[in-house]
Amino acid sequence: MQIIKTISDLRQALKAHRQNSERIALVPTMGALHEGHLSLVRLAKKHADCVVMSVFVNPTQFNDKKDLATYPRDLEADIKNAEAVGVDLVFAPEVNEMYPQQSGISTSVQAGDCAEGLCGSKRPGHFNGVVTVVSMLFNIVNPDYAVFGEKDYQQLMVIRQMVDTMHYPIEIIAAPIIREESGLALSSRNQLLSTEDKKRACIISKTLFAAQSAVKNGESSAAAIKSQVESKLKDAGFIIDYVEVMHPTKLHSIEKIEGGAQLLVAVFLGEVRLIDNVRL
Ligand code: AMP
Repeated sequence: MQIIKTISDLRQALKAHRQNSERIALVPTMGALHEGHLSLVRLAKKHADCVVMSVFVNPTQFNDKKDLATYPRDLEADIKNAEAVGVDLVFAPEVNEMYPQQSGISTSVQAGDCAEGLCGSKRPGHFNGVVTVVSMLFNIVNPDYAVFGEKDYQQLMVIRQMVDTMHYPIEIIAAPIIREESGLALSSRNQLLSTEDKKRACIISKTLFAAQSAVKNGESSAAAIKSQVESKLKDAGFIIDYVEVMHPTKLHSIEKIEGGAQLLVAVFLGEVRLIDNVRL
C-alpha cells in the first residue's frame, strides 16, 4: 500500500494503475477509521481493481471551529487499518495541499437543493464544503466509482445530485450503515462520548427501529412518527437538532408515508452531535 501526500504524486501513482486498465474506486473519509469506513473499502473492492482512500479532515465543511479542533485524528492507526483491509493508495494531504493559500476569493462548488433542509440548514455552509472537497477529489483521482455510506444519508443524496448535474462520469455506490451490537451507528465522533453517554446513545437507533415497526404495522402519518420519535428522544435526555420524515431521494418533507420514506435524526448528547437514519 502506498501512502501519498501530494496531488502530483497521487496522479503519478494512478497513471500506472490506469495503464493496466484497472478500474479505480475512491473512498473519501476524514480518518479515525472504524468498521463503517472499512466496509466501504470492502464494497469498493468488489467493483474495482484499485482502491484509493482519502483521509482528509476537510476544514471547509466545518461550520464550528471547536468541532474541527476536536475532530479525532489518528493517521498511524488509519494507515494500519487501511492496509489490513486492502486499500491500494492512501491519500492523506495536508490542508495547504488541497487549499493552497490564494489571494482573493477562491472557487467553490455550491450544493444543490438536496442540501437545503436537515444538516444543511443546521450546519450552514457544510454541504458546500463537502461538494467542493469531493469535487476536488474526483478531479484529482478521476475514479470510475466512489463509495459513500448511508450513515450520512443527506450527504449521499447531495453527492448524487452533484454527479448528475455536473455530469461526472463516476458511479456512486451507497454502502449500508454499520452498527455496533447495541444498534449505535458507528461514527468517528463516538470516540468523544463518555462511557455513560455511549450506553445512552443506542436509544437513538432503538427509537428509529421502533418507528420502522410502527410504519410496518400501519402507521402512515409522518407527523405521528415525527412526534413519537421526538418525545422518546427528549425523554431519554437528548437535545434534538432535527427529526424529519423525508422523501427518500429528493429529501423534501412528506405528509403520508407511502412508497418509502426516510426518517432522519440529529441529536446532541452533551457537545457531541450524532446522526442516524432508517428507511420507513
Ligand atoms: P467520515 O469519515 O465520517 O466523513 O465518513 C466517511 C465515509 O464513511 C462517509 O461516506 C460515511 O457515510 C461513511 N461512514 C461513516 N460511518 C459509517 C457507518 N457506520 N456505516 C457506513 N458508512 C459509514
